[in-house]
Amino acid sequence: MAADQPAIRLTGLTKTFGAVNAVDGVDLDIAEGEFFSMLGPSGSGKTTVLRLIAGFEQPTSGTVSLFGQDVTDRAPFDRDVNTVFQDYALFPHMSVLDNVAYGLRVRGMPRRERHALAREALATVRLEGYGDRKPGQLSGGQRQRVALARATVVRPKALLLDEPLGALDLKLREQMQVELKELQRELGITFIFVTHDQEEALTLSDRIAVFNEGRIEQLGSPAEIYDKPVSPFVAAFVGTSNILDDTLSRLVLGRGGIHSVRPEKMSIGREDTAIHTDREVAGVLAEVIYVGSSTRLIVDLDIGTRVTVLEQNDADRVGEDERGSRVRVGWDERDTVALAAAPIPA
Ligand code: ATP
Repeated sequence: MAADQPAIRLTGLTKTFGAVNAVDGVDLDIAEGEFFSMLGPSGSGKTTVLRLIAGFEQPTSGTVSLFGQDVTDRAPFDRDVNTVFQDYALFPHMSVLDNVAYGLRVRGMPRRERHALAREALATVRLEGYGDRKPGQLSGGQRQRVALARATVVRPKALLLDEPLGALDLKLREQMQVELKELQRELGITFIFVTHDQEEALTLSDRIAVFNEGRIEQLGSPAEIYDKPVSPFVAAFVGTSNILDDTLSRLVLGRGGIHSVRPEKMSIGREDTAIHTDREVAGVLAEVIYVGSSTRLIVDLDIGTRVTVLEQNDADRVGEDERGSRVRVGWDERDTVALAAAPIPA
């Protein structure tokens, strides 16, 4: 096998359901050992791509290759991948240990051996001692770990995860994100992770594909996606962006095109104070929202647009009692990102 062989290669992958182009000509290489996320709004085609890789759906056209082998016509069990679903799909009547050992049993592994491996897998997800329980006797986070242990015990070449943390509350979700990342590093398995949560994708991934209407709108590292969004869609979907359309760009920047500036790259000052940035625009402070370590300030600029400024809290910041007062908003040229009006094909 060539060293640079991708773990997964999708070529011209297309899936239509009646009149809906769920997946529309996706070309993508995912490297071995990569933590790869597919990010996009509901209905953008992420899950369908995952199901096409797993073999639960057949493409209308295009191919799926795993480690250099075209598996497009193979059944799901005949592909070296495993899937973790959002609802975990554990067998309620089986013990945790038997749930985890299930894939090994199907492969004909003797009982003693498969139980030993299942115990090991439970240990990697920090659930030693829980083998005799039934899934119903576990918390959501523990069930999630059982599902991960069950999916990884058979050592698939790639693990497909469809919103696996979607059912968990925020605190547990953040904790499981860290565990998921550690598990992936430990196992060295390629993870393909579907989420509509941009923060989760940015935190976990080596690379992200941002989906919009069945196509990949941008492909890149979290930093590339966040700092250099290629289109208004990506700029708005991943994090918050202040968008300057063509007219506003001409007014403020002296050149046409669509541009975006992140809220944390903008500074705000009282009307009589200089901010010392390349660009400065005056406006009225509309709203002040305290968000813990920082404050989100909404400003109606005189040029006829509303922007969000994110400021770290310090003693001298513009405060809540200044709502309705005149302010100045500024940012530097280097933090102005030019966006393509239409998506650039990935
Ligand atoms: P979500 O985050 O809501 O799961 P998604 O990005 O995963 O969304 P898909 O589930 O892949 O999106 O759906 C893409 C499009 O294909 C949607 O318009 C959806 O309604 C449609 N679709 C998906 N599966 C089917 C199906 N079995 N039959 C008909 N239409 C389908």
